[in-house]
Amino acid sequence: LYRTEFAFMVRESFPSEEEQVALYRPILTAFTPRPVVMRTLDIGGDKNLPYFAIAESNPFLGWRGMRFTLDHPDIFLTQVRAMLRANIGLDTLRILFPMITTVEELDEALRLLARAEQELREEGYAVTHPPVGVMIEVPAAVQMADQLASLVDFFSIGTNDLTQYTFAADRTNARVADLADALHPAVLRQIDMVIRAAHTHGKWCGLCGELAGQPEAIPVLLGLGLDEFSMAPAHIPAAKQMISQLTIPVSRRLAQKALTLPDGDAVRAAVRQVVHQ
Ligand code: PEP
Ligand code: MG
Repeated sequence: LYRTEFAFMVRESFPSEEEQVALYRPILTAFTPRPVVMRTLDIGGDKNLPYFAIAESNPFLGWRGMRFTLDHPDIFLTQVRAMLRANIGLDTLRILFPMITTVEELDEALRLLARAEQELREEGYAVTHPPVGVMIEVPAAVQMADQLASLVDFFSIGTNDLTQYTFAADRTNARVADLADALHPAVLRQIDMVIRAAHTHGKWCGLCGELAGQPEAIPVLLGLGLDEFSMAPAHIPAAKQMISQLTIPVSRRLAQKALTLPDGDAVRAAVRQVVHQ
């Protein structure tokens, strides 16, 4: 998973289409033939661009991710055009939309993507249509996951944001950090619902919040049927070590139990009964 906003944050102005092609092409090339999930610009909240000030009293409940880019289709179109051009001849690109809250937003994002593809073809570029996914990180999107799943190729659950919105606890506020436990059944039940919705529609479901790299969470996520774990490279060895200890039947039983427990500590205790860490 490539979070494109970081490349935007270290600059002094919005990168042009050409500059973005030059940014994305080497990333896709380096990983070919393996896929790269590129997430469209996810600014707002705690991530601001030095050249585009957004002043809001509740930034995490404000102009973030797709909300911002759908209000600035020029920025979105430039970015997806650059991604599509960078992907020519490789076909390893997957595009991921952040902070999708409603079906209407997804419809609009897909419409803009189709327009970018059409315009590029008319200009003579041999672009292909990449698999498209949405981040599930807002409780409204969890509730509508069945309808969202019918419109995309995959999901990626963003537990960092989903947890803060579930517990109404700002992810940057240390005072409420204990409350925002991503391994709490209140979050796990939503993950369960989202994975089921994806699988019912024959789509795959990944998870790209910090939870995916936590060894104690892996048995539960595997048991809920998660198809893909996206984590910082430093977490990969411990994650592999954990997965190598597990079987699917054991993970499934643990996950079903976790959904019935009262809090995250009880889930961690149940995990410790099954695996050694
Ligand atoms: C998330 O919210 O879990 C996520 C993966 O996105 P970010 O942390 O970049 O908001
Ligand atoms: Mg997020």
